[in-house]
Amino acid sequence: MKKTVRDVDVAGKRVLVRCDFNVPMKDGKITDDFRIVSALPTIKYLIENKARVILMSHMGKPKGEPKPELSLKPVADKLCRLLGKEVVFISSPKVVDEKVEEAAKALESGQVMLLENTRYRAEETKNKEPYTGELAKLGEIFVNDAFGTAHREHSSTAGLAAYMPSVSGFLIENEVKFLGDALDAPERPFVAIMGGAKVGDKIPVIKNLMKKVDTIIIGGGMSYTFFKAMGYEVGTSILDEESIDLARELMQKTKKANVQLLLPVDSVCAKAFDNDSQSEVFDRDKIPTDMMGMDIGPRTIELYKGVIAKAKTIVWNGPAGVFEMSNFAEGTKAIAQALADSQAITIIGGGDSAAAVEQFGFKDKMTHISTGGGASLEFLEGKTLPGIACLEDK
Ligand code: AMP
Repeated sequence: MKKTVRDVDVAGKRVLVRCDFNVPMKDGKITDDFRIVSALPTIKYLIENKARVILMSHMGKPKGEPKPELSLKPVADKLCRLLGKEVVFISSPKVVDEKVEEAAKALESGQVMLLENTRYRAEETKNKEPYTGELAKLGEIFVNDAFGTAHREHSSTAGLAAYMPSVSGFLIENEVKFLGDALDAPERPFVAIMGGAKVGDKIPVIKNLMKKVDTIIIGGGMSYTFFKAMGYEVGTSILDEESIDLARELMQKTKKANVQLLLPVDSVCAKAFDNDSQSEVFDRDKIPTDMMGMDIGPRTIELYKGVIAKAKTIVWNGPAGVFEMSNFAEGTKAIAQALADSQAITIIGGGDSAAAVEQFGFKDKMTHISTGGGASLEFLEGKTLPGIACLEDK
């Protein structure tokens, strides 16, 4: 168990808090503030407990130089509104400079400051000096609350822990609790639903989950690599040639381990990767050579719904089809609906599945929606996340 902000005395201290404010933006405006809102409990706790709060985050990939379109200024404005108080923001191209140092020193208890995009500095993503030390000079306690970047060993996500007492915020505490409990002591049956396009990314996760779950449900583009491994033709469907052997090996391993591995039995196929392309449902062994699988079919939906209804713990990562296109969103929507209807503990592993749950209006029906796509995948894979490992143990 890692120490949290509750385990340290923050009153009067300059507390450096790494948040994940990497929010989607369009024309200088924040289009979804879920990540900012998720960070509020820790920030409010620190304000109430009289800390001098210095917030940090990255935004996009400025590649080590200042990029005005990736400035955190809109985040500072949004935070001002959400907290109902001033948020000091100095847009320094170097993130830390004399003015920033002075402002940090001048902060009073309960006041909040936000630094500029941490990735304006090239050292950030390499956890290199002098940058990590410059950041460290600003604070006395490090709080990591950025689950979305906890799988990265950067200056502001892990490097700071070498300089000062370091604890987690509530968001990371929550993520570790839900994801960790699901993996360590799941209520059974425990079902993992894996979808999305990149089989290579998901295979290590399936390998780790195989040791823990009762059933693995496969959907999305990666199904076709499994179909190929089973000897079926997949037409023009997305296919990861390099992972065919791995998929075959996984099927054998799950069988040996007595884990049920469910693959789609039918697919909604189209002539082109286009929402308006005419579509038709085919059994998995009958996909025509000139068509591509875009979604799971109706028989698969019924099959999966039945398994989901009986589950007590469900982890979902990756859409069942090309859900961004309305004509191929049925499968993903049906899974989201089945999770919303179920009494099980439902954990959504960030990224596209979190977006899908939100898009279809089931956000409030889930037990936990992870704020980190990549980080939650690595967590489910059983990897140590540097941004969490660096924090003090209780
Ligand atoms: P990933 O990043 O691996 O989780 O993949 C997510 C993406 O997979 C989404 O953008 C989906 O549109 C895409 N996807 C899901 N099913 C399919 C499919 N059958 N063919 C192509 N792409 C798919």
